[in-house]
Amino acid sequence: MICGWVLKKGRFSFLEKFIEKLTIIFVSFRGGSYRGKILYRYGDYCKDVYVFQGDDVPYGQATPWNAIIMSDHIFKNFSKNVADYVFLHEYGHTNLHFLLRILFYAAIVPLLILFIGSVVTLLLAPVILLAMGADLHASMSIFLYFSSFAVVFALTVVLVSWPCEILADFFAIKTLGRERYLEAISEIRKMKRKERDVLHKLLIRLLYPPYQIVLLLYDLRYLWMRKP
Ligand SMILES: [Zn+2]
Repeated sequence: MICGWVLKKGRFSFLEKFIEKLTIIFVSFRGGSYRGKILYRYGDYCKDVYVFQGDDVPYGQATPWNAIIMSDHIFKNFSKNVADYVFLHEYGHTNLHFLLRILFYAAIVPLLILFIGSVVTLLLAPVILLAMGADLHASMSIFLYFSSFAVVFALTVVLVSWPCEILADFFAIKTLGRERYLEAISEIRKMKRKERDVLHKLLIRLLYPPYQIVLLLYDLRYLWMRKP
């Protein structure tokens, strides 16, 4: 056993094999290569984790069928506290019924495509129109038209994604404790990441709320939850 997890070997059921194959396909679409399955344990929480190779965020993800995938980067370059945080955050996602997770992906993927399409169009279309001899007014109209689309799609992504991410982090904070949560977040933030383009950074922000907002809402949760 290493750091609370063990490499799973031996016979798997048909369903386990099917889920593993499905998860490998999901990982390959995500741009990583599959490394193997481990049984991750934190306290009372124990679940199969599919490990993939890669150092790009997000370091972990819950698939539409509620399997947990985690990057080997987490195990190689971060403390166990960060691995525990990522595991518990993803575990928090899987508390949602898998049909709701499928609905989440069914909403978020088209929204992201529409947002990216609007941004690319608002940047390129005015330039192409000007090059084709259109007047400035027409180009500006196209720019403003697709800018408003981009804003609407961006806000919708936030409305769909942030509540899921906030609830997943609530589960991690509740299980790990506030101090260890903050330590994990600060370690992740300190880690030097690959340079990313502005659009990638924007997408990350649209999908994930700042941790300060998560903590603020966590501290205010007594206002709408009966039990802490
Ligand atoms: Zn998440």
